[in-house]
Amino acid sequence: MSSSINIIGAGLTGSLLAIYFAKRGFSIHVYEKRGDMRQARVEAGRSINLALSSRGIRALEQAGISEEVLKYAIQMPGRMLHAVNGTLTYVPYGKNESEHINSISRSGLNIALLNLAESFPNIHLHFNHALERVDLEKGISYLKGIGTNQITIEAHADHTFGTDGAGSIIRQAMEVLPDFQQTTEFLEHGYKELTIPALPTGKFQMERNALHIWPRGTYMLIGLPNLDGTFTCTLFFPNHGENSFETLKTPEQIEAFFKEVFPDTLELMPELLHDFQHNPVGMLGTVRCAPWNYAGKFLLLGDAAHAIVPFYGQGMNASFEDCLELMACLDTETDWEKAFTTFGKARKVNTDAIAALAVENFYEMRDGTARPDFLRMRQVESLLENTYPDYHSKYSMVTFHPEIPYATAQTRGNAQNAYLLGLCQKHEDVLEIDIAKVYQALKNA
Ligand code: FAD
Repeated sequence: MSSSINIIGAGLTGSLLAIYFAKRGFSIHVYEKRGDMRQARVEAGRSINLALSSRGIRALEQAGISEEVLKYAIQMPGRMLHAVNGTLTYVPYGKNESEHINSISRSGLNIALLNLAESFPNIHLHFNHALERVDLEKGISYLKGIGTNQITIEAHADHTFGTDGAGSIIRQAMEVLPDFQQTTEFLEHGYKELTIPALPTGKFQMERNALHIWPRGTYMLIGLPNLDGTFTCTLFFPNHGENSFETLKTPEQIEAFFKEVFPDTLELMPELLHDFQHNPVGMLGTVRCAPWNYAGKFLLLGDAAHAIVPFYGQGMNASFEDCLELMACLDTETDWEKAFTTFGKARKVNTDAIAALAVENFYEMRDGTARPDFLRMRQVESLLENTYPDYHSKYSMVTFHPEIPYATAQTRGNAQNAYLLGLCQKHEDVLEIDIAKVYQALKNA
């Protein structure tokens, strides 16, 4: 195979994909519209850290980079729930601490991938090149230089990969194709990042090894730890309406609101007013489209093919899994077009499932986690997981069991949750529940 490859977008997906192809001996050109992030400052307010879990780790292992990345991760084996009165409740994610998610720096991970990509002589990175349009039939990408050199170049390749994120230009080019289908659904909520700084000693102000959640019904705040002792918090909040980004504007309004609903954060966030007034509001949406390929010439991957809302912490993990599964299809199919088609069809079932699970988890996180029946359900699941090694909760299937496809986790997990929630609504004391019977009932369902 002496095919030439272009990759558009050197974000998380594009950089990992380039490494996979380089290891197979291809010559790859990667075009990125931004400058080299290893030299530029990270934009404030754009998801500074991410939760990396098993699916993403498995894909990084194949690139030989998982150990290095995990050295700079903070393990989060559970959620720490903050009630309005300041009470803290810790709820583990898995059966023990070995089942944890990892807080990692987005730019740190991207930089590690770019450094590894650059070490391959057959990967050519081109920063400050923005894709403007493509000729799908001829396999040409038209890229405009940003900054001093504003010339438009024509980049030809046998196969071009669209890893240019949720607003993909390649996906837009495919919209004119007669069989192309696409929907974008925005949530009524947006997000804003806020910071909890470290103590002057450099220590964390809250429990370091947890994902912190302030569930408040129609909205919520979450916080993930960073290595420097800070927490990056994200407020998921309605865009419009009574309590919303639209109405919460003045310092008095912001302070009064936080005092009422997130009182324990006021002391922790000395820069709250500045962050709230200056950090941008991000949009949250789900992109679904098909087919992801144009013949064997163009293929969408990662957010370009299936952007999802962040409530399962799976967007990047799923995008990394895309790269792994694409390689498996290239190994088994006889030509690129067949491989792209097989990959897109098989993968879409699973990315549609994680898209739906991510939206459902928003409702579970913002109000479910605060409900006593939900907390009892987690207790029962914990008992099941520790007694029966083959029992996995929905969260565990999605997050810790990459061998279980997302679609299976969705069907099986939703059936389990419906049964267990019903049970926990009837029993106020989990000790009344016969775990062996529950296990059998779930097994036979
Ligand atoms: P992107 O990260 O968007 O990268 C696309 C790249 O293409 C960028 O470098 C961009 O500059 C470049 N590009 C765009 N247009 C062009 C163009 N015209 N020409 C050239 N280059 C271009 N996922 C998780 O797994 N865990 C989490 O905890 C998590 N938390 C999140 C929290 C928030 C608030 C958000 C918004 C997302 C979160 N995600 C999380 C999702 C994750 O960020 C995405 O799934 C992931 O970034 C997708 O990577 P990508 O490379 O496909 O797209």
